[in-house]
Amino acid sequence: MSSSKHSKVIIIGSGPAAHTAAVYLSRAELQPVLYEGMLANGIAAGGQLTTTTDVENYPGFPGGIGGSELMDAMRTQSERFGTKIISETIEKVDLTSRPFKLWPEYEEEPVTASAVIIATGASARRLGLKGEDKYWQNGISACAVCDGAVPIFRKKPLVVIGGGDSAAEEAMFLAKYGSEVTVLVRKGALRASKTMAKRLLAHPKCKVRFNTVATEVTGEEKANGLMTGLKIKNVETGEEEHMEANGLFYAVGHDPATAMFKGVIDMDSENYILTKPGTSYTNIEGVFAAGDVQDKRYRQAITSAGSGCIAALEAEKYLAEQESEEVTDGPEGDNQASKPVNGDGPEYRSNPLL
Ligand code: FAD
Ligand code: NDP
Repeated sequence: MSSSKHSKVIIIGSGPAAHTAAVYLSRAELQPVLYEGMLANGIAAGGQLTTTTDVENYPGFPGGIGGSELMDAMRTQSERFGTKIISETIEKVDLTSRPFKLWPEYEEEPVTASAVIIATGASARRLGLKGEDKYWQNGISACAVCDGAVPIFRKKPLVVIGGGDSAAEEAMFLAKYGSEVTVLVRKGALRASKTMAKRLLAHPKCKVRFNTVATEVTGEEKANGLMTGLKIKNVETGEEEHMEANGLFYAVGHDPATAMFKGVIDMDSENYILTKPGTSYTNIEGVFAAGDVQDKRYRQAITSAGSGCIAALEAEKYLAEQESEEVTDGPEGDNQASKPVNGDGPEYRSNPLL
């Protein structure tokens, strides 16, 4: 393909996975094109870290670094080696024939690519509670591992909402910092695995309240005021109460940004992209997935960056193989209609189950 709208590799997304892939691919002189999105999936270009303040667990920044600052630096590093960054959202893809076709928003004609890296990320589910917007990041967080260690939570009563493995893990993690941790579970049972549930229920600083939901977050009535309490309700008895809480952590699941790949790329029941364990390979040869979009368990900047590196190295290898095939087979190479997809079946699964 020689068209100016054709790239060897297109990266969709702009979080740590996308930019790490871009750095590797541009240093390999593959001239990657990165579509960073324009408020794609409701998140600014740069991804989830643009919605937080200090990132304290990304190696290399002993004093912490602002989330947006870290993503600006990653973007600059991608550009430094020649990545072309386009501030548009990819709205539609056709990955069923080669070259792959991608439609950026506002454009009728697709751009094409020999390889695609999907790094569209995920977003933490929110509950839409009264007071949630007001105290978001001023006591409310969707990531205990990221925010739990900050001083406002030290020796204070904390609450986790959710009944899955994340809720159990986050509650026990927070117990290291808070005075006590209450887990609110909307049903009468935990969804978490038996081992995690057992550990949580036995934890001396954690208390589980079943059949209980939160209804409102309360707190200081001033600009950037902190949350100090939570109104909760027992769904069986209807009884309401106000509890003291200086931190509220949502562990009610995430939504991966995979809608446009449905039916083409293999996904699990929660729409996370399935990759071949230990790799970024999807069920379609030449299409790779990296970051939170294929990782429902770890969901960290550093794990996303690591998987972006893997995707880049695998895409590079794939492109090199394509090129050598083209030399052997003649010039049509990339234009061949449909190539077989990768193997399928149980070999493919989401990374958390590695
Ligand atoms: P994301 O960061 O999810 O970014 C994906 C990007 O792709 C988005 O910007 C989106 O706009 C774009 N996109 C989506 N669809 C399209 C499309 N169709 N076309 C073009 N672009 C598209 N992790 C840590 O390690 N430490 C922390 O301290 C930390 N704090 C956090 C605080 C908060 C509030 C949140 C929400 C998360 C935090 N995390 C933290 C988790 C971390 O942000 C994520 O694990 C990481 O950002 C995931 O990176 P990613 O590359 O998969 O993509
Ligand atoms: P899950 O989807 O497993 O659990 C989400 C929890 O949030 C459920 O208990 C659900 O309740 C609850 N919930 C959802 N919506 C609401 C709502 N509106 N109000 C109140 N509660 C709500 O997500 P996780 O993030 O916990 O886990 C994702 C995956 O990652 C799982 O496969 C898990 O096993 C894995 N994981 C494993 C870990 C480990 O093994 N150490 C650690 C972390 C995750 P309900 O049950 O009623 O539907």
